[in-house]
Amino acid sequence: MQPIMNTYGRLPVTFQKGKGAYVFDEDGKSYLDALSGIAVCGLGHGHPEVSRAIRQQADNLVHTSNLYGIGQQQTLAQKLTRISGMDNVFFGNSGAEANEAAIKIARKYGNDQGVQLPTILVMENAFHGRTMATLTATANPAAHAGFTPLLNGFERVPYNDLAAAQQAVRNNDNIVAILVEPVQGEGGVSCASDAYMNGLRKLCDDKNLLLMLDEIQTGNGRTGKYFAFQHFAWIPDVLTTAKGLGNGVPIGACLAKGKAAHVLQPGNHGSTYGGNPLVCAAANAVVDTIEKENLCARVSELGERIRAAIKEQLQDTGFVTEYRGKGLMIGLVLNTPDSAAEIVKSSLDAGLLLNVTAGNVVRLLPPFILTNQEADLIAQQTSAQIKAFFAAQK
Ligand SMILES: *Cc1c(COP(=O)(O)O)cnc(C)c1O
Repeated sequence: MQPIMNTYGRLPVTFQKGKGAYVFDEDGKSYLDALSGIAVCGLGHGHPEVSRAIRQQADNLVHTSNLYGIGQQQTLAQKLTRISGMDNVFFGNSGAEANEAAIKIARKYGNDQGVQLPTILVMENAFHGRTMATLTATANPAAHAGFTPLLNGFERVPYNDLAAAQQAVRNNDNIVAILVEPVQGEGGVSCASDAYMNGLRKLCDDKNLLLMLDEIQTGNGRTGKYFAFQHFAWIPDVLTTAKGLGNGVPIGACLAKGKAAHVLQPGNHGSTYGGNPLVCAAANAVVDTIEKENLCARVSELGERIRAAIKEQLQDTGFVTEYRGKGLMIGLVLNTPDSAAEIVKSSLDAGLLLNVTAGNVVRLLPPFILTNQEADLIAQQTSAQIKAFFAAQK
């Protein structure tokens, strides 16, 4: 019997070391990391500022609990609220926990107003996590299978369909909030249109609903702004983030603004580890580095460069039907009805880490610290793997 529970389909490789955009396996073979631990290590591996912050804080104080003040958490909260324009933050340890906090805010917001069955509007193809509430909010039927009963208080409409959201709100007085990803990562790197996002903001304003953005994957510079909502001219009521915030140290954050910021009161929610000194020290170093090195602009530049290079190399082949994404969230929709999972394996053999999501979407989530040369190498190797995949199909 394997001592680790069988919850992941793992690739047959074990990494021992990482430096910048590269990781190294037990035999010393190097891999160019175009996945960043699933959008987590935006600053790459072994970033000196983050490593120093973790070392120093580990020597100083790792944990005290939220029974007491935590200086590093206070500092991080100030930075995140300044950057986002939100009012306050709750810290948890993961993306799912950040969304749990958002879901609890929405429910209490509804219950405080006497709404009978506070309901959150969620989207098709959404991914919000694996806990029971976030699993319910997630759209994937395969992820639901075997875990009934799911929670009530969720209603689902198609993504990027403003009329469907408007109609759902019109027909159901219990809807108190809309939870949506500005770019659906797991759902196939689908970008919401500007009109859709602006329309959801207006709908929530008109109907007094909370607009809750799941920026667990899109936050912390990934799309070329610190948060993806900053591509628009408004602010959400609730904002969750996690993946890139700690560069690999587990942390999640749920930010709130205005009426949403006053919903949770002492005793309503908590986490033993959430926002402890160690993780917040790491996250403070991450946020400082992103700002100091102007990495959001660099992300836009690198994203354009990689997308353009792949397009140039593949546009005459017909293998890619759509080039998706924003910044360094890149999705290549392959012209195949079958799963393209073999590309992950062949890329691994060739020393490139990438991912396939939604069956046929090759997904790249490279680190922000790439050199132009590394970016070109990712584009060239990814194109070569896609060509090899289609050559083998014949
Ligand atoms: C990864 C992800 C989550 C879940 O985060 P965990 O840290 O795995 O719990 C939720 N929402 C989105 C959009 C994500 O990409």
